[in-house]
Order: sequence, then structure tokens, then C-alpha cells
Amino acid sequence: MTNALIIGGGIAGTVTAIALRKAGINAAVYEAYPTEDTDTGAFLLVSANGMEALRTIGAHRPVLDNSFPAGRSDFISNTGKRLGGRPMAGSEEGALGARTIKRATLGRVLREEAERRGVRVQHGKRLLAAQTGPDGRVVASFADGGRAQGDLLVGADGIHSLIRRTIEAAAPRPRFTGQHTVCGYARDAASPPDPDTYAMIYGKRAFFGCTTAPDGEVWWFANTPGTELSKDELAATTPEQWREQLAALFAEDNTPAADIIRASGESIVATNAYDIASTPTWSDETMVLVGDAVHACAPNAAQGASLAIEDGVVLAKCLRDLRSPRPAFAAYERLRRERVERAVATSAGLVRRTAPGPVGRALRDAMLPRKLDRAGTDGATDWLTGYRIDWDEPVPGEVARARR
Ligand SMILES: Cc1cc2nc3c(=O)[nH]c(=O)nc-3n(C[C@H](O)[C@H](O)[C@H](O)COP(=O)(O)OP(=O)(O)OC[C@H]3O[C@@H](n4cnc5c(N)ncnc54)[C@H](O)[C@@H]3O)c2cc1C
Repeated sequence: MTNALIIGGGIAGTVTAIALRKAGINAAVYEAYPTEDTDTGAFLLVSANGMEALRTIGAHRPVLDNSFPAGRSDFISNTGKRLGGRPMAGSEEGALGARTIKRATLGRVLREEAERRGVRVQHGKRLLAAQTGPDGRVVASFADGGRAQGDLLVGADGIHSLIRRTIEAAAPRPRFTGQHTVCGYARDAASPPDPDTYAMIYGKRAFFGCTTAPDGEVWWFANTPGTELSKDELAATTPEQWREQLAALFAEDNTPAADIIRASGESIVATNAYDIASTPTWSDETMVLVGDAVHACAPNAAQGASLAIEDGVVLAKCLRDLRSPRPAFAAYERLRRERVERAVATSAGLVRRTAPGPVGRALRDAMLPRKLDRAGTDGATDWLTGYRIDWDEPVPGEVARARR
């Protein structure tokens, strides 16, 4: 039986492991974090396409059980005017829809699901190097002195991927998008959005989004323009400082954003937002990239996790049907590249529209309602959230041979 080494136990790594097991391929996951507790406090949206991709490998149930639904988004301008709304899920019967979940919870339930299916997930395994031996097998060396050998290696090691640079030394580095993303939680907020709804607020100087959890707590995020912060600067900025800075950014708007931020507790987390528009080389003879390691998306389109899930499922199908790594990796890239690069570009476009000047705001407020109306029941971004994978449909060999 084929043995796959998976580097990185995040979303892409665990889903790839689950999907490979379903395809009859052995998988072991090596995660750098020393413990299972990696709670950074952030939450994310698993979009409808991500949930349906999980369903194809029967891994949607634990996510459903530990998340709450996100049925629609309502767009509001800085003046408080409602610009329109859009459903976040497809209208097909039985659709799972989009779900909001803490990032750490998603990581935990996917890891448990992988382990339940016989995948060994090892922590404290920081990869230092990977190379292909003369016998065509790949060897991974870890910081703890350990080594592992496999028939192939999946680089699911996130945005700063070592495997990306191992496959191609000149591979692109992540690009700072000019934006910070901050997440927080507010109890007893004055104007919580309706349950099942994201209020998406175009502030004059930054973007704010929030939804209400089943216990009434408001979960919010803000995308704010700024310069790249060092690790030390991020660590040194206290929740109180973020609260003040953000409340000031939204203070002159006629929206609930500033009040919700002021009502937040100590759990406020901030990060620089990065993306990777295009990675020229996705694989070599034994190694292949999935998730943020190959196509990181700015958070604005809320697609990074869902695309990572799709990658894992499609890669497993390709390995199931084409068997040897080279043609399987070629088919996987062929099936994925155009879609993920378009998604990254779409998200980068949303970054540019975060805080336009007065003319841009006026145009947006005039155009967006028409666009939202036109979107109909499936949303204007149907190509993104309406994407479905058929697990049973074979991947023909021609896909690997087709030219890009
Ligand atoms: C603030 C923020 C908000 C976001 N919101 C959303 C959202 O709403 N919806 C959405 O879909 N996406 C969102 N995203 C994006 C999403 O979180 C990522 O796209 C997703 O986590 C990618 O999964 P991944 O497994 O590829 O990478 P990661 O989740 O980063 O996992 C990579 C793993 O590899 C491990 N690793 C790294 N190097 C090594 C090594 N050398 N050896 C061993 N292990 C290693 C890391 O420790 C990590 O566990 C958001 C991102 C941010 C920053």
C-alpha cells in the first residue's frame, strides 16, 4: 500500500489524510506544534463549498456539530444604510450551507476524525528537510532528530511552507496585503446581528463583519489598512490597545461596529494578512503542495480553509485513480490551479475595496444594491461557493497529460 507523509496538521493536512484513507492510501501527519492545544482565539467561516467537500469524504458531521450556521450576509454602508443582502449557501436541497467555527475547534475535530480513521497524527514534529532518495522514496528529517520515509510527501505546512521552497528554491514568498485582520468576541453588545446572519459593514476607514453565536455572543472581525507588523509588535499590542484603535477607526460611522468593539472582552487577536497569487511549481517527483502552502488567500473572501479542504479531496482522488505520484500530481494541479488562483485574485480585489475614498464609496453604495439583487438565490459568487466535487467520478489519465 502507498504510504504518504503529510507535513502540517492544520486544515489541509488533516483533510488530506482523511481523504487519502478513504482512497485506500496510508497517511501519517507530522505537526510542528508540540501540543494539540493551538488555540489562537480566531474563528472562521467554512463556506458552502468547503462543507460540501467535507461531505464527499464523510467528514462534515463533526464540523456541523461544533459550529453554527451562516445563512446570509447583509451589507451596510458607513452611513448605516442597508445596501442589500445575499445568501451564503446554495439553494440545492439538503445543502449544508456555510458554518462559523473557532479555528482551533475545526482543527481539533478534523484531527479527531483523522485519528478515528486510523491516521497517526504526531505533534512536536517540525520538519527540517525533505529529499528524494535514489530509490525514489522520500525522506523527511525532523528537528527532534527523527526521520520518516514514504512513497510521497504532501506539503500542508501553511503559508510559510518549507516544502514550497524545497520543491523550488525561488518559490514566491507570501505577500503582505496591506491589511491587518483582527477578531474578537462581545457579550451584551447593543445591536447584535440576527442569528444566522453576517452583518458586513463598510466603514469609512475599515471593514467590519460580525455574527451572533447561539449563546448570544457577537463574534466579529475587522479588516483594517496598515503596515506589516513584526511578531514582536503583534505580541506587544494588548487587547485593550486593539480595542481603542479599532473603536476609533469606526467611531465616525453610523453603524454598531464601534459599540460592539468596545463591548469586547480580552480575547482579541490580530494578524497581518498575506496572500500568494501564484506558485509556479506545485510538485516534483515525490512532493506536492496543498492549502495555504500553495495558494494563500487574503481572509476577505473567507475561502482559505474551504479551498484547503477541496485540495485534499481532489488530490486524494487523483492518487486513487492515477496511482503513481507524477501523473496524479499533474492531474491535481490541472484540476485546481485556475480555480484557486481566481479565488486568491477575488479576495485581493476585496482587499483593495476595503476603505475607498468618497468617490469610491458613492459608487459602491450606488452599484452594490443592484449587484446584490442580481445575485439571486445562489449568490453572484456561485463559481466559488457553488463548486462541488464528485468523489465517485474517476479522474481520467488525460487530465494529467493535458497542457495548461
Ligand atoms: C485572521 C484570519 C481569518 C481567516 N478567516 C478565514 C475564513 O473565515 N474562512 C476561510 O476559509 N479561511 C480563513 N482564513 C484562512 C485559513 O485560516 C487558512 O487558509 C487555512 O488555515 C489554511 O489551512 P492550511 O492547513 O493550509 O494551513 P494552516 O492552517 O496554517 O496549517 C499549517 C500547519 O502546518 C504546520 N507546520 C508549519 N511548518 C511546519 C513544519 N516545518 N513541520 C511540521 N509542521 C509545520 C503549522 O504548525 C500548522 O499547523 C483566515 C486566515 C486568517 C489569518
